[in-house]
Amino acid sequence: MNEKDIIEYFKELCDEHNVPHPKDLKINRRLSSTLGRVQYRRVFTALTPVSVHFNKELLGEGVDFARDIIKHEFAHYYLLCQNIDDGHGPIFKAFCKKLNCVNSGTKAKNDLDRNGAVDREGMPKMVASKYTVICSSCNKSVGTYSRWCKTLDRVSNDHAVSGCCKAPCSIVQNW
Ligand SMILES: [Zn+2]
Ligand SMILES: [Zn+2]
Repeated sequence: MNEKDIIEYFKELCDEHNVPHPKDLKINRRLSSTLGRVQYRRVFTALTPVSVHFNKELLGEGVDFARDIIKHEFAHYYLLCQNIDDGHGPIFKAFCKKLNCVNSGTKAKNDLDRNGAVDREGMPKMVASKYTVICSSCNKSVGTYSRWCKTLDRVSNDHAVSGCCKAPCSIVQNW
């Protein structure tokens, strides 16, 4: 599939399921550890998807394989739009089934580790860790975590403030 086909197919799925198109939807040439990635912000219990990116490796793939990866990422995106964060849990799996999505493995060949870096758009770069805590004022990463922990509980439930700006923090999660 080419880039346009990939983007168009994702938008079709959005239209079919009555969710808005993501503002940041593209092939991300730096994405290397997964074939697709949905990032979202969590502020207290409110979840907001911020980007849907696909790996350039997908460009060389056949329609069936590529569409399956796109459906997988769409399932994450759709549930986040309903404020549901289920990871790859039962709600996610049930929705994938509805989409006839069979591929749950979206890992690509290489894994890059650029923990904590923020790119020009203020978005975290591809991170090996699953969660990045971001200062809502300057957008800098203030911590990365590979699994959910007490600190992340505190950030999402309490009024944790960043050391740099004394501003509230949000959690960006990579799937
Ligand atoms: Zn800050
Ligand atoms: Zn996934």
